[in-house]
Amino acid sequence: MKAAVLKQYRKIEWIDVPEPLITPEQVLIKIKYTSICGSDQHIFNGDFHPRTKLPLIPGHEFNGEIVDVGQNITKHKKGDLVAVDPIIWCGKCPACKIGHYPACTSLKLVGIDLDGGFAEYIAVEEKMLYKTGNNIPANHAALIEILSIGFHACNRAGVAPQNTIAIWGAGKVGQSILQAARTRTASTIFMIDPVANRLNISFRSYPDVVTINPNETDPVDKIRELTNGKGVDIAFEAVGHARSIEGRHNPVRSCINAIRGAGTVCVLGLGDEPSSLIMKELIWKEARIIASRVSHGEFAETIRNLDAGKLKPEALISDVLPASEAQKGFELLENEPEKHLKILLEL
Ligand SMILES: [Zn+2]
Ligand SMILES: [Zn+2]
Repeated sequence: MKAAVLKQYRKIEWIDVPEPLITPEQVLIKIKYTSICGSDQHIFNGDFHPRTKLPLIPGHEFNGEIVDVGQNITKHKKGDLVAVDPIIWCGKCPACKIGHYPACTSLKLVGIDLDGGFAEYIAVEEKMLYKTGNNIPANHAALIEILSIGFHACNRAGVAPQNTIAIWGAGKVGQSILQAARTRTASTIFMIDPVANRLNISFRSYPDVVTINPNETDPVDKIRELTNGKGVDIAFEAVGHARSIEGRHNPVRSCINAIRGAGTVCVLGLGDEPSSLIMKELIWKEARIIASRVSHGEFAETIRNLDAGKLKPEALISDVLPASEAQKGFELLENEPEKHLKILLEL
């Protein structure tokens, strides 16, 4: 089969590799679409070294059709359309023992710690599969993983009807949180990002969203003004690597300043820089800061909402390339980050 293989960092090649063999517990999937994630960009650059072992077939956001099943497979058959939850947890560490798999101390992901979905075929265990059905177009089904991260964040933060929300960062993760949050609350949602194109993507999909460019407007002031001085119930930080903006606090501190008393801040951005906080700003509000990582079974909720037409997956897709052009996809994301959001690779 053909696969896009990372043979050395920053060089991904479309080459022949052996087709995977299935164990009795696995199915063979013919992949239809696979999506380039921010983590894939880090893998491409070698930032995850030595965790990533080269040569590696990246890709943890993909979908496809089952074309072969192992002898112990009971719930799936050839022809089923599926998405794959790429998370592999150990089942033995303290977090796993209480069923909190995203915090597994040796969490592994398909496409990062082992070969993934930038390939024509992949063998995966049945427990990782979610049926997607005929209602969901194949290019949308490739976004179930990233959208489920938005649902997981909403579950972690406890988004409820009537909650007002602010989302710092309108990239792939921020947009996924927006889509998930809109299935739960009809109240005001603020999107904050210095990149106008990203704010436009939110606004085009959800014209009632209030977009704020922190280069032009102080987001915390604007949020206070439009919530009658109260602040929002929940603020999400999905920025990751924040560029400092004169006159503005860092995103996490801004989130704390933007919430009401006893509100919640949920952090997801995987930045490497420290965020300086004034703890009394948190304590005065007796607020909560919680973290959200990957997802925890939210594939099912995401598929239900996609099936019901309640999400806008097309808003996330900026480009579709043949998988043989994976290298080009990474270069586009690197050279023109403001123009591209999700690049899908078609197989
Ligand atoms: Zn991802
Ligand atoms: Zn574990």
